[in-house]
Amino acid sequence: MKTKSFYSFPEVVAHLKTGEPTLYHSSQTSTVIPFEKLEGVLKSNTVMGNLSTIKGSLEMLENGNLKVTGFVTWKEAKEFCLSKGREIMTSPTEELAGVLAGIATSCTGERSFGFKNLRSQIVELTYINYEGAEVKLSAEKKLDCGVDLSSYQKDFSHYVSYKNAPYPRLEFETDLMTGTEGQLGVIESAVLKTIEHFPETYIFMLLPKWEDNFEPHLEVFKAVQSFRNQVRACEFLDSNSLSFLPADKNPGNNNDVLFLEIKKDEFENIYENLLSHLTLINEDQIFEMNASKCRELRVSVPRAIFEANSRMGVTKKGTDVQVSAERFRDLLLFYREMGQKGVAYNLFGHFGDAHLHFNYMPTPDKNDFCNEQLESLYSKVLEWKGSPFAEHGIGLLKRKFIAPFYNDHQKSVFRELKKKFDPKGQFFPEGFMTC
Ligand SMILES: Cc1cc2nc3c(=O)[nH]c(=O)nc-3n(C[C@H](O)[C@H](O)[C@H](O)COP(=O)(O)OP(=O)(O)OC[C@H]3O[C@@H](n4cnc5c(N)ncnc54)[C@H](O)[C@@H]3O)c2cc1C
Repeated sequence: MKTKSFYSFPEVVAHLKTGEPTLYHSSQTSTVIPFEKLEGVLKSNTVMGNLSTIKGSLEMLENGNLKVTGFVTWKEAKEFCLSKGREIMTSPTEELAGVLAGIATSCTGERSFGFKNLRSQIVELTYINYEGAEVKLSAEKKLDCGVDLSSYQKDFSHYVSYKNAPYPRLEFETDLMTGTEGQLGVIESAVLKTIEHFPETYIFMLLPKWEDNFEPHLEVFKAVQSFRNQVRACEFLDSNSLSFLPADKNPGNNNDVLFLEIKKDEFENIYENLLSHLTLINEDQIFEMNASKCRELRVSVPRAIFEANSRMGVTKKGTDVQVSAERFRDLLLFYREMGQKGVAYNLFGHFGDAHLHFNYMPTPDKNDFCNEQLESLYSKVLEWKGSPFAEHGIGLLKRKFIAPFYNDHQKSVFRELKKKFDPKGQFFPEGFMTC
C-alpha cells in the first residue's frame, strides 16, 4: 500500500488529477478505520493520503465565526477561541483529531446535549472536487445536486432529532461533506459558529452500579431533558470504566458517576430546580469538580480503554448506539444482558442523549462471540429504529453492520452521488457509500 503526505492543497490537487484511489486522512484517531492493519482491508492500489502535514490556520472573523483552514486539531481550535474570549460548541473527547476530519465524520461529543451536533454549527465550507477545483458550500442553501433526494429525505424524517442517523442528512449544501467520510471530496476549510466564553463547572453524582439498579440514572435522564438550555453536557462513566484509572484519580469509589457541565453562574439555578428535585439521589452523593480536572478525567478513561483493547490485540468491540428516550430503558436492559456473558466490559458516554458506548474487552478467543453479540444488538437497534453509529461513523469496521440499515432509497442516492462527485472512484472507494 502506498502512502503519501501532502504539505499544501496544490499538492492535493496535483494528486487528485492522477485519479488514484486514495483514503485521505488526518490524525488517524478514527475508531472505525483500523489504521494499524489496513493491508488486505483496503484495495491494494488505494493510497493513504496524509492531510495532517498541511499546516493549518485559524482566523476569528468579525462576526465571531471561526475559520479553519488545513490541519488544525480540536485542541488548537479550542485554545485559539478561548484566547479570543470565545468557545466552540463541539467537544469530541479525542482533542487531537482534526477539525476538518470532524466534519467528514460528522463528529459529535459531550456538548451535543446542549449545543446539538457539529453539522448545525457549520456556516460554510470549501472542498476540492474530483477535477481539482475549489467549491464553496453554504449551510443556508438547500442541497440541489441533481440527485433526487425526495424518498431519502422522507426516510430521514424519523431521525431528525438524532445526533447522526444511519445515513448523512443531505439537506443543505454543506451536508455534502458532513458525515460523508471523505467519499465525495477533500475538505479544505470551514467556517464554524462560536459562542462567548463563560467559565464552566461540573456537577458530579455518585450512583449505584447500573448493573444492579439504573433507576436513579433514569431519573436524572428524564429530569435533565428540560434543562438543555442550561446543561451543556450530561455524561456517564460506569464503575468498570473508572476502574482503569489509578485509585487517586477515580472519583467513583466503586460507584457509577453521572456529571453535568454547566456555566458556573447557573449553579444555584441547577441545584434548586433540578438536583434538589431528584428523589433517588441524596445530597451527599453530589459534588462539584473544576473544569480542568474533569477534562483530564473525561479524556483519560476512553484513552485507557482504547489502549487496553489495543494491547489485547483485538479490534475494538465497542458500540455507538443512540436510541429514542422511550427506548433508553430497553437499551440499558440489553447492555445488562450483554454484560452477563462472561466477557469483561464497561459502559460510558453521552447519557443525556441516550447514546452510550458499551465496550467488550475480549481475549482474542472471545472475538467471534462478541461479534455475534453485537450483531444481535444491531438487529434490536434496527427494530427500535435507533441509530447504530451516532458518533464515530462507519469507516471500514462498521460496514457490515450498517448494511441492513440501508434500503433502496439510500443505496440509489449513494450510487448517484458517487457517480456525480466521484466519477473516477478515487475518494475512499471502500467507504460506506459502496456498501
Ligand atoms: C479516545 C477516543 C475518543 C474519541 N471521542 C470521540 C468523540 O467524542 N466524538 C467523536 O465524534 N469521535 C470521537 N472519536 C473518534 C475520532 O476522534 C473522530 O472520528 C475524528 O473525527 C477523527 O478525526 P481524525 O483527524 O483522526 O481523522 P482520521 O481518523 O484521520 O480520518 C477519519 C475520516 O475522515 C476523513 N477525512 C479526514 N480529513 C478529511 C478532509 N480534510 N476531507 C475529507 N475527508 C477527511 C477520512 O477520509 C476518514 O474517513 C474518538 C476516538 C478516540 C480514539
